Amino acid sequence: DDRVSRISSTIRVIPDFPKPGILFQDITTLLLDPKAFKDTIDLFVERYRDKNINVVAGIEARGFIFGPPIALAIGAKFVPMRKPKKLPGEVISEEYSLEYGTDTMEMHVGAVQPGERAVVVDDLIATGGTLNAAIRLLERVGVQVVECACVIELPELKGRDRLGNKPLFVLVSST
Ligand code: IMP
Repeated sequence: DDRVSRISSTIRVIPDFPKPGILFQDITTLLLDPKAFKDTIDLFVERYRDKNINVVAGIEARGFIFGPPIALAIGAKFVPMRKPKKLPGEVISEEYSLEYGTDTMEMHVGAVQPGERAVVVDDLIATGGTLNAAIRLLERVGVQVVECACVIELPELKGRDRLGNKPLFVLVSST
């Protein structure tokens, strides 16, 4: 698909951000190219329309950029998966480990119903810990996670292996 090579070429790589030694994949430059941005959304929409998806769960913060247009196009609801203490209503939360320490992801109680079918969206999968927490959160309330979807995968970090049996769909693999 020649759309993928254009998308790939718009992603900027910034060395030593946020820390020395890290090669940061920056999707803000993809957003500056309206065709690449539209193609990104279209590729996800083509994959998830007609699959009876009720829920697009977007992970803070860049899952909030890609998730909503996908949700609107496929007729699903959008559910934000947020950092702690951001959601005003009653929440359920899930802890997950980072390189140093832990973080917590939260979702509103009542946002999803048992039996609903979800896709989890983020910009990038590295170790897979973040997507793993989102899957656990949704499955705890009886939602079926059909697939995870990211623009970029860093395959060397083997994040796929932390998603158990959940399929992962990505547009760009970055080595
Ligand atoms: P993981 O939990 O190790 O898979 O890390 C994925 C999370 O960290 C996602 O929410 C990403 O947005 C963020 N992340 C890690 N590395 C990068 C990067 O190079 N660019 C953009 N986001 C990143």
